[in-house]
Amino acid sequence: MHKTTIAALAAAMLCAGAALCTTPAMAQQPQPDWDKIQIKTTDLGNKTYMLEGQGGNITVAVGTDGLIVVDTQFAPLYDKIKAAIAAISPLPVKYVINTHFHGDHTGGNANFQKDGATVIAQDNIRLRLAAGGNKNGTSGVAQPKAPEGGVPKETYTGGVKVIEVGGRKAELHHVYNAHTDGDTWVYFPDANVICTGDVMNNRHRYQQVDFANGGDIRGMIRATDEWLKVANNDTKVVVGHGPLAKRSDVAEFHAMLVTARERIEKLVNEGKSEAEVVAAKPLADLDAKWAANEGAATAFTRMVYNSFKRS
Ligand SMILES: [Zn+2]
Repeated sequence: MHKTTIAALAAAMLCAGAALCTTPAMAQQPQPDWDKIQIKTTDLGNKTYMLEGQGGNITVAVGTDGLIVVDTQFAPLYDKIKAAIAAISPLPVKYVINTHFHGDHTGGNANFQKDGATVIAQDNIRLRLAAGGNKNGTSGVAQPKAPEGGVPKETYTGGVKVIEVGGRKAELHHVYNAHTDGDTWVYFPDANVICTGDVMNNRHRYQQVDFANGGDIRGMIRATDEWLKVANNDTKVVVGHGPLAKRSDVAEFHAMLVTARERIEKLVNEGKSEAEVVAAKPLADLDAKWAANEGAATAFTRMVYNSFKRS
């Protein structure tokens, strides 16, 4: 019974998380076989690592007396993630940073906090994890509230917050209204690593703008602008989903966002309705490159349009 409940919860979170994080088409994906998922560790240099499994990419920074971890994937993967981290370092996880509230990035929160870590996030994540998310504007799926212990113990409201563990410094940058209304991107200056959360993927696909939960393409552009200022050609960019990215990948993604915003904002300013904008296919040339299918193309046009209609 307990196992069934966990599986059902994980399925609901996957559905919400996957749908929210890339395209609605992903919501139809079957529940993964957790037993078959392996955690792949990539050494980014300077005692900093990227972990890939199922859900959002994880980053681990090793200090002299503890670790900083960015994002937590799904609860059923916790033991595997813990083992992958233990293979990197025997030191305890002191801080876990959430880049946003979606379940494929926060599902392991309760387990990490139970084992002594402090989850830290922008304050809107606390609110959305405690109450559950709003119904996603394209998939119609609402993320359920987090289980007990899954809400961040420490939050910040805006600007830049710096945390330090054993000589390792993480800069938490809040960018308001981007993928959601609680996004944090993280910079490890000593490793030249940026963690973008779900403001960006590196699958060369459109990214979800969760406008029903405060997402807005203009915030996504602001975030990418900031990364382009911080990054050089050696910067390693850990995106929300997909392989490790470089500054040039960020630049390409940024250009797509800017074009999409310009074209659709113009139609919004002309008073066009959502249906009229979708029918006009203003992003047809971009769709050919960035949309996995027709549904994803339509969804992205709707998400950009609704960025300008948020209440
Ligand atoms: Zn997401």
